[in-house]
Amino acid sequence: MVSAIHHVTAISGPAKRNLDFYTRVLGQRFVKKTVNFDDPGTYHFYYGDALGHPGTILTFFPWDHVAPGRLGIGETQETSYRVPKASLGFWTHRFIEMGVVHGNLEQRFGESVLPFRDPDGMRLALVGIDGIESEPAYAVAGIPEEHALRGFQGVTLLLDKIEATAAVLTDVFGFEKVAKEGTITRYKAPGHAIGSIVDLREAGEFLPARPGAGSVHHVAFRAASDADQQAMAEKLQKNHGMRTTEQKDRDYFRSVYFRSPGGVLFEIATDDPGFAVNEPVESLGMALKLPKGLESHRAEIEAVLPDISGVDIPAYHPATH
Ligand code: ZN
Repeated sequence: MVSAIHHVTAISGPAKRNLDFYTRVLGQRFVKKTVNFDDPGTYHFYYGDALGHPGTILTFFPWDHVAPGRLGIGETQETSYRVPKASLGFWTHRFIEMGVVHGNLEQRFGESVLPFRDPDGMRLALVGIDGIESEPAYAVAGIPEEHALRGFQGVTLLLDKIEATAAVLTDVFGFEKVAKEGTITRYKAPGHAIGSIVDLREAGEFLPARPGAGSVHHVAFRAASDADQQAMAEKLQKNHGMRTTEQKDRDYFRSVYFRSPGGVLFEIATDDPGFAVNEPVESLGMALKLPKGLESHRAEIEAVLPDISGVDIPAYHPATH
């Protein structure tokens, strides 16, 4: 079994601004409105494609007054999405029109890449890929299906040394080393179209990361089943001397966590049951969903969560094909 990226979880500033950016500006679907199970006074927002398939899910813990993070060693430097190559012009225009901070088009590993930032300074990029125009994508007002994001390409991890992390990627998750460009070595999950790239950037001695708004909290990798997850955890212990946490039920997947050798927090999350497990596909993300153990505290939780009323979340349209 070869894994790939399941989701990426990051820290953001004000919840409203985050919700507006990912749904309206980037056109991602708000697939789940819940709370941080370990800190229920904080929202946990999930964005993805129409159903929040693994490989499309970016999630946030929004905190109104969190200080900005500082990029450094042992964290995710950039998270990238796939778009049809011909759509990069559409996105450049949209970013200019909407005041999104972005860079110039770059060439990396033979691909055209448009780097940009979210309102908290999180480092993101669109990677133009040929031949993916016909893949289904979630369309919203202002972003026709032909230009919509098509899941993650992957992440870039900024590390002191890359060997031990590379060994986990290849041995435990089944990635393969496919290319090297400058200080970046590219690893790819064979057989996966989305969420299949992890770039390891070896930076040597550099400032350590200081987490805050715009920082990635962890990167989750896919497990097809509990047995698959357990097999990966056993391999991690036997071949790399690393233990995962106990399995935690996150309602939409079941997870174990471990600190990867380079310092980045990794998770292994099951593909099932997904986001439609407790609300209809048509209304994903509309109601606040709490884990069973917190349902009896709903009133107190709702009272402390920040106000997110008034965000103009684009309406759900079923796929046209
Ligand atoms: Zn996670």
